Amino acid sequence: MAREMDGKVAVVTGAGSGIGRAIAEKLAQAGAMVAVADINLAGAEQVAQAIVAAGGRAVGVAMDVADEAAVDEAIDGIAAKHGSVDVLVSNAGIQIVDPIVEFKLADWRKILAIHLDGAFLTTRAALRHMYRGKRGGVVIYTGSVHSHTASPLKCAYVTAKHGLLGLARVVAKEGAEHGVRSYVVCPSFVRTPLVDKQIPEQARDLGISEEEVVRKVMLGETVDGEFTTLDDVASTVLFLSAFPSAAFTGQSFLLTHGWVMH
Ligand code: NAD
Repeated sequence: MAREMDGKVAVVTGAGSGIGRAIAEKLAQAGAMVAVADINLAGAEQVAQAIVAAGGRAVGVAMDVADEAAVDEAIDGIAAKHGSVDVLVSNAGIQIVDPIVEFKLADWRKILAIHLDGAFLTTRAALRHMYRGKRGGVVIYTGSVHSHTASPLKCAYVTAKHGLLGLARVVAKEGAEHGVRSYVVCPSFVRTPLVDKQIPEQARDLGISEEEVVRKVMLGETVDGEFTTLDDVASTVLFLSAFPSAAFTGQSFLLTHGWVMH
């Protein structure tokens, strides 16, 4: 039976863990050859091996998304070996929480480098292949509920996640004539290592218990007190990767349990 992503080559950054891993697995289950890219090569290789063991196609690739030469080399290498890049999921990210007055410039730069330089560099490298022969493609950014709203302690993260909306819109405009579409998926909290690390940090900074961080800070604005799931995000990415027209291009998709609705 034909699957939605048969014959497609997908690059997913930050795919050695959490949301990126779930996206890589979902795209592979739908037939894509997936380059599992991560700064942590061992993690990426482990995910790629799990995909292959489950009958899919995947390779682990070392990539620091904030390193221009590393990104170009990795994406050019994937395209040379596998034919092109049809889907880029720019997902790698980190979180650092602190009040603005205590936020270190080095931490601000680190977040912007990974989220924004990383999105730009991977996009630029992938578009060069997608534009070739008008093959086209899909670029998806992992935004956040914080692409559309703000929370205390997250000045750099909120700034970066808002920035992705702008980049996606420019990709939609410039890419259209080349058959390229772009999207931002915007989840509320998903239980991953990135979130688990924040719970004690936020409890310390806000002077509340870890249970209150989860119930009030992370889920308090949702309509049902539920986390968004890995599968919610991965299924949305698959839907957008396979969608047959440019009807939604440039838009963001909120998966926030009613926290933010547009
Ligand atoms: P995670 O920590 O589980 O995974 C992030 C991955 O990115 C790790 O494997 C890490 O090694 C990799 N990475 C970090 N820096 C990198 C770099 N410079 N180059 C390449 N890879 C790098 O986190 P996650 O929760 O799965 O987050 C993935 C994305 O989802 C991030 O962009 C995050 O902001 C976003 N997001 C997460 C949530 C959530 O609640 N977990 C909600 C909304 C958005």
